[in-house]
Amino acid sequence: MKEKALSADEVMRILEETRARDYSYDRFFSTMCTQPHPIAVRAHDMFLETNLGDPGLFPGVADLEQRVVQMLGEMLGCPNAAGYISTGGTESNIQAIRAARNEAGKKNGNIVVPESAHFSFDKIGDLLCLEVRKAELDESLKVDVGSVESQVDDNTVALVGIAGTTEFGQVDPIEDLAKIAVDRGIHLHVDAAFGGFVLPFLEGDWRWDFRVPGVSSITIDPHKMGMSTIPAGGLLFRGQDCLSALETETHYLTKARQASLTGTRSGAVAAATYAVMMHLGQEGFREMVRHCMDLTHHLVSSARQIGVEPVIEPIMNVVALQVPSTAKVREELMKRDWHVSMTREPRRALRLILMNHVTEENIDLFLQDLQTILQR
Ligand SMILES: *Cc1c(COP(=O)(O)O)cnc(C)c1O
Repeated sequence: MKEKALSADEVMRILEETRARDYSYDRFFSTMCTQPHPIAVRAHDMFLETNLGDPGLFPGVADLEQRVVQMLGEMLGCPNAAGYISTGGTESNIQAIRAARNEAGKKNGNIVVPESAHFSFDKIGDLLCLEVRKAELDESLKVDVGSVESQVDDNTVALVGIAGTTEFGQVDPIEDLAKIAVDRGIHLHVDAAFGGFVLPFLEGDWRWDFRVPGVSSITIDPHKMGMSTIPAGGLLFRGQDCLSALETETHYLTKARQASLTGTRSGAVAAATYAVMMHLGQEGFREMVRHCMDLTHHLVSSARQIGVEPVIEPIMNVVALQVPSTAKVREELMKRDWHVSMTREPRRALRLILMNHVTEENIDLFLQDLQTILQR
């Protein structure tokens, strides 16, 4: 830090210059985040200084958080779910597995996750000293239930199923995983960080949430398809017991026990999530998801016209396009200011997320550029 003070105007000028170097959302196909809904931004601003780590000082926003948890619980088939607003999918996954491990009380524990699991599970293995066993996928890129079964043993503290995989948007057979979980008395965690705000609003009868007996916890991210501000994550447990397995004593704060991973934590994101859920309602989310799915179908049918096929028929607004020399093509696209990502080997493909900020016009321009690159 410099000794001498800068005026607010000078500081703002530096910030504006620097901010101008960031890319803008309308050319992002690579991210599961999006521009938050304007009402979320307003709510976030209003609650900027609130701290949910010390809820007795902020009973207003603490109440908003509980209302969000209740709305999420209702949406996921368990109105009495217990949980809290975390910083995102990573924290929610860490905490769900930590609760499962604490409840199981086993030494040398392991967890069985699909090969398609988000990399947060590798952090979890390291942090919680658990062996992370990866189950194979079937040809549709859902986890192979036989492979899960063969990896479960007496030290397994949790099974993980994914409702909306990060790379392909696929949904694991949660009901089959739940049967194993119930039979063997193991915690089943469903990672719906992305899919949690998609599946309830898609046509078709998906069975993946608390309506499936045996699902013990769910990760759902308001800062992805929930249109809230960053960093808003959601962690829900079927009952209070599991949440209690995370509690420590706080000694000097207004509430005697704390279950969250972080201590001081923003109330702004809870308020933002509350605001957007109330303002859009189920009808608003259904409309938004329909729009994203329309964009998805437009992308896939237009890609086919230039001879590019998706790895799987998209289920949600996540598309993996098969192109030769994927990394090179991606680089060329980046040079043209198109931000796309890639799936892992052995199923390397261009990965695109059709978020609400994407426009049909940009999809068409993107595909023109892709075609030019592929023809060279
Ligand atoms: C995005 C994502 C995560 C991680 O969420 P963060 O908010 O980035 O921590 C975890 N699981 C899945 C399935 C995801 O798509």
